[in-house]
Amino acid sequence: MSRVDGVFRTRTLGIGARGIPDQYADGKAAKVWTKYIGDQTERTGYYKEKLIKILNDHNCKSILDVACGTGIDSVMLLEMGFNMTSVDASDKMLKYALKTRWDRRKEEAFDKWVIEEGNWLHLHDANLEKPEEGFDAIICMGNSFAHLPDFDGKQEAHHTAIQNFYDFLKPGGILVIDHRNYDQIVKGHPAPMKNIYYQSSGEVDCKTSVLMVDGKYHMVTLDYNVHSEEDETGSQFRLSYYPHLLKNFNQMITNIFGDNGKHTVLADFQDISNIENPSYYIHICEKV
Ligand code: SAH
Repeated sequence: MSRVDGVFRTRTLGIGARGIPDQYADGKAAKVWTKYIGDQTERTGYYKEKLIKILNDHNCKSILDVACGTGIDSVMLLEMGFNMTSVDASDKMLKYALKTRWDRRKEEAFDKWVIEEGNWLHLHDANLEKPEEGFDAIICMGNSFAHLPDFDGKQEAHHTAIQNFYDFLKPGGILVIDHRNYDQIVKGHPAPMKNIYYQSSGEVDCKTSVLMVDGKYHMVTLDYNVHSEEDETGSQFRLSYYPHLLKNFNQMITNIFGDNGKHTVLADFQDISNIENPSYYIHICEKV
């Protein structure tokens, strides 16, 4: 699929918010996304309680969802009484969130829901109402952060994005950010398709390609095929990710949040020592 004149194309060519390629621009992934993530309550059921406990333990009320996509986590948190500001670079994804806000506008929480197009690399330019001291929490979930490519081989973009998240947090605020277990994926273990986030009732198969550049893992491409009752041939889409290895990601957090910043890593939302090969690592990083 997606071979154009024999060129192995790793992303669609759409441009999202300023300066970032929008992998969802052709609408293919956005269209089947809700199918892929499956029933909304089933999806969030697994980690809802755990995420809400983390947010409550840190007295969080105002939350910035920096990768809201179709709005799934933002909606869950709105329903639980949090004040939500939601950002995403892809208007194709955002249109589903905007539609939900419109459909539920009679509910006060949804009427107040702020949704803006924005890119993590230029977060200061996004049209956001940042609380004076900053947000109580920022969430970046569902393997979203790995969408940001390493443009220069030095991970400068990754640093800029995390630094921007840091700047938007109030002192004592937390960043909850996750990535797939790329340590396993680059060793040749396929990325599990049914996992804490994706509960599609249809079958999802996926081909994994790993690209190395100058001896470093540079990109992982997943070719998804989501089957459903209405569409037996399946819907295909391709997404490429930067493979964040755990040790390296931890170091990046330490560099930005400081040595004395509190940083906890969970494995599929559980204690890391309980799960040998998690699908996801979830980082909770506190700004001191
Ligand atoms: N959190 C949602 C969406 C996951 S898909 C869920 O779990 O369902 C990842 C999202 O990250 C996409 O909607 C994509 O547009 C967004 N994204 C990727 N790079 C971005 C960037 N640089 N700035 C803002 N959003 C970005």
